[in-house]
Amino acid sequence: MDSAKSLPVAVIGAGPVGLAAAAHLLERGLEPVIFEAGTTAGAAIERWRHIRLFSPWRFNLDAAAVRLLEPTGWESPRPTALPYGGELIDNYLAPLARVPQISSRLHTGARVTAVTRQGLDKTHVRNRDTTPFLVRVRHADGETRDHAVAAVIDASGTWSTRNPLGTSGLPAIGEEAAADRISSPLPDVTGRDRAQFAGRRVLVVGAGHSAANTLINLSALAKEEPDTRILWAVRGPSAEKVYGGGDADGLPARGQLGARVRRLVEAGKIELHTGFGINSLKALDSGVTVGAVDGRTLEADVVIPCTGFRPDLDILRELRLDLDPAVEAPVQLGPLIDPEFHSCGTVPPHGAKLLAHPEKDFYIVGMKSYGRAPTFLLATGYEQVRSVAAALAGDQDSADTVHLELPETGVCSTDAGSSCDVPLAAAAADATADSGCCASPEPVLVGFPTGLSHGRSGAST
Ligand SMILES: Cc1cc2nc3c(=O)[nH]c(=O)nc-3n(C[C@H](O)[C@H](O)[C@H](O)COP(=O)(O)OP(=O)(O)OC[C@H]3O[C@@H](n4cnc5c(N)ncnc54)[C@H](O)[C@@H]3O)c2cc1C
Repeated sequence: MDSAKSLPVAVIGAGPVGLAAAAHLLERGLEPVIFEAGTTAGAAIERWRHIRLFSPWRFNLDAAAVRLLEPTGWESPRPTALPYGGELIDNYLAPLARVPQISSRLHTGARVTAVTRQGLDKTHVRNRDTTPFLVRVRHADGETRDHAVAAVIDASGTWSTRNPLGTSGLPAIGEEAAADRISSPLPDVTGRDRAQFAGRRVLVVGAGHSAANTLINLSALAKEEPDTRILWAVRGPSAEKVYGGGDADGLPARGQLGARVRRLVEAGKIELHTGFGINSLKALDSGVTVGAVDGRTLEADVVIPCTGFRPDLDILRELRLDLDPAVEAPVQLGPLIDPEFHSCGTVPPHGAKLLAHPEKDFYIVGMKSYGRAPTFLLATGYEQVRSVAAALAGDQDSADTVHLELPETGVCSTDAGSSCDVPLAAAAADATADSGCCASPEPVLVGFPTGLSHGRSGAST
């Protein structure tokens, strides 16, 4: 990072990964300035504070953040316990945001609306690498100000940009007009949002962990409010992916989630509609009619969109990015996590090198670094920002020595010929693979195996 060394490093977002980035930058003697759109740190997780994480505390804490917290008398939670989102905030993120080294550098209510290079639009190359970045921020006082910084770490997550309900990547016809009938992606159906769902016809759309969590919580609501009807629409031919790897899942809580949903469907508590690709929504006084590509329709009072998320790339429009054309993750990372091929929950350890863009000293990290892929884990993000901070500080050796404290596993190997979940191009990029991704020795993968072997391409249609 040779541009304007006296300038700070902007961190966009004070989620767990943004705060961890700030902690690592401080350890490196660099000066972070953190812009958080919400009113508090962890604002996105605040929206799902009622959901339990499936990874235990020991994998949810960043080492540099813990080093900042310990002198304050903070007590580490029990490493094996599974926190709720709310506990992750109350017992970790909020205390971390209060540590003076962080709080003095954290701007809340500060939404980054654009990032560029000072005086240069995307087409200008002269002195580009040494020109400071300009980060445009809409602050809590309503004013928009430009901030000059030496580097930018975008840890803004994906929570605010959910995927549409429409099956083709676009909103279904009528989706915007039916907005009143569509809830947030992970509503607290038994708690603060209960009134919206109790005794209603609720349609859950999607086939991931969010859908599983929501379906289980709705079934608890239906026990107390028997008029509640639970409908579930998935685009694929079956719900097997949601039922998951069961006992083969490296995270038992995650495995149990799918198994519980399966039991609820089999017991008739949830009405499952497979192959239901949505192409239209029609809001009525009495509810909403949801239409499928094949002509089927479902009537509901409210729709819960568990359709996943995508990164907001608009704020990065003036930067030179190298993104995977499908996953919208940094180009070398994309193939390793592409949900089309990869659902095993593991990934080769990676850091600054893999996350780099043609735009020098700019990195996308955390949930946003996975683009449209849903398998991101905090532990992966913490290693990303450790490596990025080292790279920005000029410690290339440390930046390149990536080591994830997650179980090592080769579970990504599948029975699909000689192929792994990881497509060949990605495997070829991996230094440990000789030829093809299952060449000996196998690429070292780390993470918690889901017990699923293929991505979507392994499904029957
Ligand atoms: C329901 C759920 C359960 C999960 N469970 C687990 C689990 O068990 N284990 C695990 O390891 N991972 C889990 N994850 C995945 C992932 O770890 C979390 O999503 C985590 O919150 C990602 O952290 P982050 O810091 O990258 O992003 P976020 O937590 O999304 O933080 C991003 C922050 O940036 C802010 N922001 C957004 N846009 C802007 C902007 N333009 N300007 C300024 N600020 C902005 C947001 O307000 C937010 O505070 C889960 C995710 C979900 C949704």
